[in-house]
Amino acid sequence: MERKYKHFETKVIHAGYDSKEHLNSLSTPIYQTSTFTFDTAEQGERFFAGEEKGYIYSRLGNPTVSVLQEKVAEIEEGEACLAFGSGMAAISAVLLSLTKANDHVLVSQGVYGCTYGLLKLMEEKYNVSHDFSFMENEEQIRTFIRPETTCIYIETPINPTMKLIDLEMVVKVAKEHNIPVVVDNTFCSPYLQKPLVIGCDVVIHSATKYICGHGDVVAGLAIASQELISKIAMTTQKDIGGILAPFDAWLLLRGLKTLPIRMDRHCDNTTKLVEWMKNEPQIKSVYYPGDENHPDYGIMKKQMKHGGGLFSFELDGTKQQIQRFMNGLKMIKIAVSLGDAETLIQHPATMTHSVIPEDVRLSMGITDQLIRLSVGLESWEDIRDDIKQSLDQMKKN
Ligand SMILES: *Cc1c(COP(=O)(O)O)cnc(C)c1O
Repeated sequence: MERKYKHFETKVIHAGYDSKEHLNSLSTPIYQTSTFTFDTAEQGERFFAGEEKGYIYSRLGNPTVSVLQEKVAEIEEGEACLAFGSGMAAISAVLLSLTKANDHVLVSQGVYGCTYGLLKLMEEKYNVSHDFSFMENEEQIRTFIRPETTCIYIETPINPTMKLIDLEMVVKVAKEHNIPVVVDNTFCSPYLQKPLVIGCDVVIHSATKYICGHGDVVAGLAIASQELISKIAMTTQKDIGGILAPFDAWLLLRGLKTLPIRMDRHCDNTTKLVEWMKNEPQIKSVYYPGDENHPDYGIMKKQMKHGGGLFSFELDGTKQQIQRFMNGLKMIKIAVSLGDAETLIQHPATMTHSVIPEDVRLSMGITDQLIRLSVGLESWEDIRDDIKQSLDQMKKN
């Protein structure tokens, strides 16, 4: 496939858009329209028959959304991309399209809560079963593979423990059995990790996070071969209908232009905060794949550009003390979601992972003491000082 632009920093700005096709508009126009008119009845017939390409109706395609899709396909180095109204709409469309009744999905131990909910729903309603695996070595993958396994589904880094899965290793085993590998790449963004280049088959993003970057859109993306994307577009997206609105696509296009410089700052801030925190006596442990002492640091070096903008840590104290620490923060906001300009803090045990049974949650390393931070774009020293003043308050109480 021909690629016009060489570097990521240029692609996020120019790929997928030709101003000459849009009345020389520098910014991509928002095509705020539900439907498109045909020149003649015969042209309408040709569009529907697929004999001529053209826009028909915005659930089937919209020019603003198309620019986003082309740009993202190029930055993830995939053939094609499809945009959705949420990350979950993308995940459900991909999983429904790769499975049928009685199939089996192998899943990394630790996936987004609603992905876990969707897998349970698919099991109850369609008898699509699943197994969870830590995927720490080839054997832990092979033992779960069955003739009816039609998909391996992975998140790396795993939220919120920040463990990594070696994608090259998974791809090797998956190829032996001809099973497609799907990666939820939300935590890295395409700037830090490109699973398709490693040999994975499908990449999914909750574009709500780093790709948007400004906390004002809920959106999803799936990137894969043209064949699979066309199939999803004409089945699970067209008929279930989880499409992205043109205005939201425009906001994502706007956010994408600064993705590399935002990611650099997220990563830089995180590295500095982690280094500081490791030496704070009230902090029991810090989990960050960019830290040399992290058990998966070698995997990070192999498949990621940098350790990323998220880390978690354990604070000595009871659940009540942890909550008091969070309440004591003055600038850092208590919120789920991630990848925004604002630093966000959340408590997985009582928030994002509260639906998981306690014994399973603890076996995954999600203790009551564990706190996750999505490091924002503020001065890292202001983030540090805010954490420090709340830790000091804790000591006094
Ligand atoms: C947020 C998130 C999702 C779900 O995306 P929505 O846009 O909220 O639907 C899926 N996976 C990961 C890793 C996420 O962080």
